[in-house]
Amino acid sequence: MEESFDAAIVGAGPAGISAACVLADGNSKVVVLERGEYPGSKNMFGGVLYGRHLAQIIPDYVERNCPIERNIVESRLSYLTEEGGLSFAYRDAAFFGQLRNNAFTVGRAKFDRWFADQARAKGALIVGSTVVTGLLKDPAGRVVGVRTDRADGELRARVVLLADGVNSPLAAGTGFRPEVRPQNVALAVKELISLPEEVIDQRFGVSPGNGVTNEILGNVTCGMNGVAFLYTNRSSLSIGIGANLADFAREKVRPYEMLENFKLHPMIAPLIKDGKPQEYIAHWLPEGGYDTMPKLFGDGFLIAGDSAMMFNALHREGSNLAMTSGRLAAETILEAIKKNDFSAAGLKGYEKKLQDSFVLRDLKKYRRFPSFLETHQDLFTGLPRAASGAAREMLTVDDLPKKARQTLAWKAIRGQVRPLRLLRLVWDAWRSVR
Ligand SMILES: Cc1cc2nc3c(=O)[nH]c(=O)nc-3n(C[C@H](O)[C@H](O)[C@H](O)COP(=O)(O)OP(=O)(O)OC[C@H]3O[C@@H](n4cnc5c(N)ncnc54)[C@H](O)[C@@H]3O)c2cc1C
Repeated sequence: MEESFDAAIVGAGPAGISAACVLADGNSKVVVLERGEYPGSKNMFGGVLYGRHLAQIIPDYVERNCPIERNIVESRLSYLTEEGGLSFAYRDAAFFGQLRNNAFTVGRAKFDRWFADQARAKGALIVGSTVVTGLLKDPAGRVVGVRTDRADGELRARVVLLADGVNSPLAAGTGFRPEVRPQNVALAVKELISLPEEVIDQRFGVSPGNGVTNEILGNVTCGMNGVAFLYTNRSSLSIGIGANLADFAREKVRPYEMLENFKLHPMIAPLIKDGKPQEYIAHWLPEGGYDTMPKLFGDGFLIAGDSAMMFNALHREGSNLAMTSGRLAAETILEAIKKNDFSAAGLKGYEKKLQDSFVLRDLKKYRRFPSFLETHQDLFTGLPRAASGAAREMLTVDDLPKKARQTLAWKAIRGQVRPLRLLRLVWDAWRSVR
């Protein structure tokens, strides 16, 4: 702890380890401090990583035995009511060939450990079981290291990267990130359900090593602004559900009860039948989007990943934003080392790099999306019922002529959402993502 480093990174998640790899590749002296016993021991997510962004850090990740569970060849989107629902699926031969590992599933406990080992092999020092409790500042207010819960607890570094995830008192301590409001975070619960590999292949119609993601919206979140998911791993399924924290507080719904109900849904129950629950875990997600992001750098520090509220709630992407922001933060630090300037002015290239990347472009493009979800509750109540009701009418085959069926389908829609409201909803949806 008495040693001094070029860079100290708080958190060994995707953002922190990506930064550590790039810094070690650039021959700088870097330490990663992780509160978990080992990287990944305290982490969870839905399960999908994106090959492109990992390859930008470890180009030969497949040859290096990255613990990939399944290559995703099909993406499903379901819109469910209590009894049924609509599903869309997209599968493409490209995902078996030139786009293989475009997206793949992993378990965080295995992946984070493997990723940290890559950083270690490049020369980064990864220290587990160490909680960073505060930032060390010099009399001028510049960050010059971190304070930890260890007995010999202070560590000096020329620059500190905050990559400590969504619940980051450290980012708040910089004065740049306001206290997280319940409206801006979701609480998600996830269960890992083990099933034999061949049963998963058969139920999801995939060959060994290939898999499916299913994002699920609708009444399953009890009318709250939320989403559920079901992802295939090699011999387990990741099933989870989450909703806005403010909605949970208002509706007094218990997350694990919502998950148990979701597992009983007629379109979900057959997929997980006879599976053995392995683990159950809850975590926050930053969902406030661009307008809730803090300033990303200051004198002696930068912020990356979830800690900077970088999550694309529409596409359910976070790990790739974390990896890319970690990589760009590290590239900025390498430039600062060359200039020997770790002031805010010396680190401001980080923001420009992010602005030029998909990270800030996407977050900016969808900046209205979180408030669209917050103010259109019918998306999670009336609309799925309207869609299901209309589909049920159109698919019922009896003696009624189709014209009468169409009238009934339209009635099913109007019974749930007024036509003007529907038009407004479509317009607002388009405006929030254009
Ligand atoms: C339910 C759920 C499903 C998700 N599904 C997906 C998905 O399928 N695909 C996707 O791309 N993204 C998904 N995400 C988002 C994704 O998990 C995050 O965006 C990503 O993990 C952010 O990486 P990070 O490195 O910024 O933070 P984290 O992964 O949270 O890592 C932060 C690390 O910092 C450590 N830490 C925290 N505080 C301290 C401290 N004081 N001292 C030392 N160490 C500390 C933590 O232990 C942790 O290891 C999901 C998230 C959730 C909750």
